[in-house]
Amino acid sequence: MGKKELSEKISKLAGEKNAAILAHNYQRPEIQQIADYLGDSLGLARQSSKLDTELIVFAGVDFMAETAALLNPGKKVVIPDLEAQCPMASQLPAKTVQKAKKEHPDAAVVLYVNTLAEARAEANVTCTSANSVQVVNALAEDVILFGPDSNLAWHVKQNTDKEIIPIPKNGHCYVHKMFSATDIELLIEDFPKAEVLVHPESDPEVQKLADYICSTSQMLRRAQESPADEFIIATEIGLVHRLNRELPNRKFIPALSDGICQQMKLHTLDKIYRALINEEPVVEVPSDIADRARAATERMFEVSKG
Ligand code: SF4
Repeated sequence: MGKKELSEKISKLAGEKNAAILAHNYQRPEIQQIADYLGDSLGLARQSSKLDTELIVFAGVDFMAETAALLNPGKKVVIPDLEAQCPMASQLPAKTVQKAKKEHPDAAVVLYVNTLAEARAEANVTCTSANSVQVVNALAEDVILFGPDSNLAWHVKQNTDKEIIPIPKNGHCYVHKMFSATDIELLIEDFPKAEVLVHPESDPEVQKLADYICSTSQMLRRAQESPADEFIIATEIGLVHRLNRELPNRKFIPALSDGICQQMKLHTLDKIYRALINEEPVVEVPSDIADRARAATERMFEVSKG
């Protein structure tokens, strides 16, 4: 079966089953095109909490699907490939957060949503790359335990007077680690008029070269509103596919053409179709963990307008 035929079958079946397909900006182009909602972590979390469908097919990684599940206790959330697990999320087990809390009893715990629900249940509030600074600055506490991404922690530190303690010390995304300041400097030489848009999971040396540091959805918005015609994009390549499709008159230069998240790319149209037919694998979060992780997520919605 070709991509077009399969896409049509998926859309028809989703309609018959009252199912919504949510996809992250890093998904394959053909999945982006069949999604009912396409966005970054914050947008997907917000959207999933508003859906009136009974079934959610989540084309993203584990922690994102967990967010959809814990925000929708009565609904079924399925993930097309269970192996789509974010390596950064697994760098922060709940016990590491518990230990840090004991060592810093006066600190607030702010966890990036790229964390498994079990660890997020230990947080005062969660954040995304789109609202991390806003969330931290909204808290009364002066000391913040922040994890798991040490580069996002660095970005927050540049925009707050609070003490930021990264947990773990060197948490990182292997995809954004691949971007190098030297490569971007060479691209800036080749495209001197281009705006440089950098995701805050990138190393500090790369962030320092940015005109704008932003989440994937903020990159899309900036490219729509900017007077510039060319953009150097330092994030996963899936977002470049979306930018090329939605803004065909602008030029998008990937900071690295093989900046690919292998875990995001595990989902395929075929797996989405099978997940819709079989309504599995189901993503489940134990209710005690879900209740606490949901409270941390809802607090993020309260303090964030981003
Ligand atoms: S791009 Fe990085 S943070 Fe995002 S899912 Fe892949 S490994 Fe995790």
